[in-house]
Amino acid sequence: MNQLAIGQLIQKRCTRCFHDELKIIKIDSKEFSEKVAYVFWTQCPKCGNNDTNLTQADR
Ligand SMILES: [Zn+2]
Repeated sequence: MNQLAIGQLIQKRCTRCFHDELKIIKIDSKEFSEKVAYVFWTQCPKCGNNDTNLTQADR
């Protein structure tokens, strides 16, 4: 999985203004027995809309 870092810009579409790049403002990881799930908060640099995303990575 790609390394995610706070302040990094990722290619993702804003749900409000459809700008195609969002900035990561916070990352949480949740560990389960077989997987790690990452919850990351994104903010659109254009309209300021906040969003949360969930991704999973196999161990
Ligand atoms: Zn936006």
